[in-house]
Amino acid sequence: MLRGLNMDRQLLVSSLIEYAGRNHSSTEVIATDSSGVVHRTNWSEVRSRAQQVSAALLDEGISTGDRIATIAWNDHRHLEVYYGITALGSVLHTVNPRLRDQQISWIISHAEDQLVFVDPDFLRLAETIAPETPSVRKWVVLTDELPETSLPNAVAYEEWISKRGSAIRWPLLDEWSAATLCYTSGTTGDPKGVVQSHRSIVLQTWATCTGDGHDVNSSQSILLAVPMFHVNGWAIPFAAAMSGAKLVLPGPDLSAEALVRQIRAEQITFSAGVPTIWLSVVQYLKDTGVDIPSLQRIAVGGSAAPRSLMDTLEDDYGVFVSHVWGMTEMTQGSAGRFTHRVTGLNREEQRRRQAMAGRELYGVELRLVDNNGEDVPRDGFSPGELLARGPWVAGAYFELDDETTHLQDEHGNWLRTGDVATMDTEGYIAIVDRAKDVIKSGGEWISSIELENAAVAAPGIAEAAAVGLRHDRWGERPLLLVVLEPGAEFKPDEIVEAIRPHVASWCLPDAVVEVEEIPHTGTGKINKRLLRDRFSDFSWPQ
Ligand code: ADP
Repeated sequence: MLRGLNMDRQLLVSSLIEYAGRNHSSTEVIATDSSGVVHRTNWSEVRSRAQQVSAALLDEGISTGDRIATIAWNDHRHLEVYYGITALGSVLHTVNPRLRDQQISWIISHAEDQLVFVDPDFLRLAETIAPETPSVRKWVVLTDELPETSLPNAVAYEEWISKRGSAIRWPLLDEWSAATLCYTSGTTGDPKGVVQSHRSIVLQTWATCTGDGHDVNSSQSILLAVPMFHVNGWAIPFAAAMSGAKLVLPGPDLSAEALVRQIRAEQITFSAGVPTIWLSVVQYLKDTGVDIPSLQRIAVGGSAAPRSLMDTLEDDYGVFVSHVWGMTEMTQGSAGRFTHRVTGLNREEQRRRQAMAGRELYGVELRLVDNNGEDVPRDGFSPGELLARGPWVAGAYFELDDETTHLQDEHGNWLRTGDVATMDTEGYIAIVDRAKDVIKSGGEWISSIELENAAVAAPGIAEAAAVGLRHDRWGERPLLLVVLEPGAEFKPDEIVEAIRPHVASWCLPDAVVEVEEIPHTGTGKINKRLLRDRFSDFSWPQ
């Protein structure tokens, strides 16, 4: 082999913040903390405070590979800690505070986290789990002064970093060393730890910055409406530094009012978040008549975005919706931007593609297989289990020996995503369902996602969830649960009629029930397991 003669520079997370600090020093990072105070800082300050975090960690005896947790909202301190931990070679473990206490202490113990950075909002949670998390040596509370707390070894963040200078030089690590650890939420089993290397973070961040990814670039003002504990904030905290974009971190308040206020005040051009966030923003815009002219594009994913969301955001507010699919195991797994060919198609054809979950993005190779592991054609309608592989796809889970999470065959090692999907010749994927949520009726599969999307497009429906319940004749049949918009009247027959043109007749729900609220998981997905349990005694209408 003739080796290339390029320089041996490792792909490291520290290079992202170094770049932003050097070239975009005055570009703003604006953050609202959990007490509602707005902090205006910039990439240069984020870099120097991240260096102080690293220096303080070194003083605590933290070394390469040590895991350090954060239980925090999206704000400047969380961002500094993101870089301070990873640049030093220790591992950033973002914990989802919306999980149950036992799950959180299980995750922290499993990761053997040594330090925890905790927002004052989660102090009670930290006090509850502290006796169950013996690996934790210190709790750093993300605030100026330490509040009253029973936490052992607690210290206020500002005090803790103030003693350190920012003279530290970050080490030249091996790019394969671990940078982040994030657990899946455990909706479909025990939480599993995904460890991303420095190399995989830099590569996936590059993909995020490409035109077909999220096109994160220096001309943008970005509002991060995805929690930084959900799949590393979809890599946007890293992409904003790689591109030197202005970044707005909204803190705990993700209400439509707060998001719209910040979009207007900070001239936001791009934002990202789960569909429920945008559904509430759309409702708020309709109710108040406020507009958001600066916003050009949003990325939506994490669960299926209904077509009605694209229709309203684009037709009424001029916001392009880039619908993507992804997982903790690879962050962004598909691309929602139009190809040149699709740009030339009519609106209807474009919308049909937008309603799908994006298309294959270079770097995450996708494949569909049937129950026997045989390839399923990319014909746009044959469903199969979606498999993925690539340099930033998890090849295994942290400290978990389970052969069923991956498929090994003559084509190599593939992650089993647990999603059932169809694909077409242009690489567009349509998620039929999570394998566990698909409704199996008389040997046929009914997509709960298809039913939900059709239902929320009906007048007066704010949110909908379809679940499969036991049925004597068919095995399972769909029950549709709906939350009505304020003032709307519940008319089940009209809802079914509104869905009819969009699905095959045998897929129509056998019953529609009005509910006050639909439960969500910690990562914003409809909690189907809870709904199936709650309606397990439901009697079908005769
Ligand atoms: P969790 O911890 O809740 O599993 P993830 O974000 O890793 O969090 O969940 C990944 C799953 O989310 C995917 O396997 C898929 O089922 C679902 N998902 C993500 N994006 C979409 C989308 N655009 N459409 C439908 N489902 C999606």
